[in-house]
Amino acid sequence: MDKQTKVIAIANQKGGVGKTTTVVNLAAALSARKRTVLVVDLDPQAHATLGLGLEKQQGISMYSVLTGAAAIADVIQPTKWTNLNVIPSEVDLAGAELEFGMREDRLTMIKDALAPVKESGAFDYIILDCPPSLGIVMTSALVATDGVLIPIQAEFLAMDGLALITGSIDRIRAGVNPNLELNGIVFTMVNSVAKLTQDVMEEVRGHFADKVYETYIPRNVRVSEAPSMGTPVVFLDPRSKGAEAYKAFAWEFMAKNPTRLNAVPPPASGAATPEQHPVTPALEAETPDPLTSQTSPAEQ
Ligand code: ADP
Ligand code: MG
Repeated sequence: MDKQTKVIAIANQKGGVGKTTTVVNLAAALSARKRTVLVVDLDPQAHATLGLGLEKQQGISMYSVLTGAAAIADVIQPTKWTNLNVIPSEVDLAGAELEFGMREDRLTMIKDALAPVKESGAFDYIILDCPPSLGIVMTSALVATDGVLIPIQAEFLAMDGLALITGSIDRIRAGVNPNLELNGIVFTMVNSVAKLTQDVMEEVRGHFADKVYETYIPRNVRVSEAPSMGTPVVFLDPRSKGAEAYKAFAWEFMAKNPTRLNAVPPPASGAATPEQHPVTPALEAETPDPLTSQTSPAEQ
């Protein structure tokens, strides 16, 4: 049994901070690096589902699994990209806060649902896209995870927002999930020339030190255009600034969160079949982004 599947929740109680964009592009970049990835869309808005090119479909979501209407294996959907899979969301998930709020197993329901998938070892990473609230879905997502990755914007009061979510993490760690770690904090939609941005980034780094990823994601119009095409920007326009940043971020993420594959040397040149994956050649040729001092793990 492979215990090395990493379950990571991408969470922030604030909406519009880049959670879903980070889920979609981190997952895409990891999959292009031959990591097997399962995205679990827990937001009834289903933006991660749509951003990965799938439609909402009634009965195919974590909601259906939690109500017992579907088996977990039946809601895992492939995307059109190799190694990249998703449990879609559907609008019924919006009722989950009320409907599941009184369940005795409300805290462990997502963990229990994911347990067979985690233990099967079929995925290197399971990445949960959380809804923007500190409600029961997000709480049970945090109970189900090994680590929480928090995307934030470097803006006024960023530290206050961080205190809220790190407080939740601390409470869950003290209670139901002692293994829960703050995986890290990643700055999104960065306008690097703004003085306020610089000040906030410095303040957050001062407080959270090496928990803050070195790679930050710049504001980039290609990133905001990609969801309407149902294609992650790292596939749609791999040379755009946003895509380059997400690929560099994925390197840093992999180095910090090794799974069984990271230890395996890359296949000898010629052995790989990059044509299976539309963007693999471009990604494989990458050198790490100069924004980060991180060097590529294992494969370099
Ligand atoms: P959340 O999931 O936290 O609500 P999203 O990932 O949906 O946030 O992002 C909110 C909006 O900002 C979306 O319209 C998205 O396309 C846009 N966006 C996210 N990251 C960037 C970026 N780096 N550059 C430009 N627009 C971005
Ligand atoms: Mg979202």
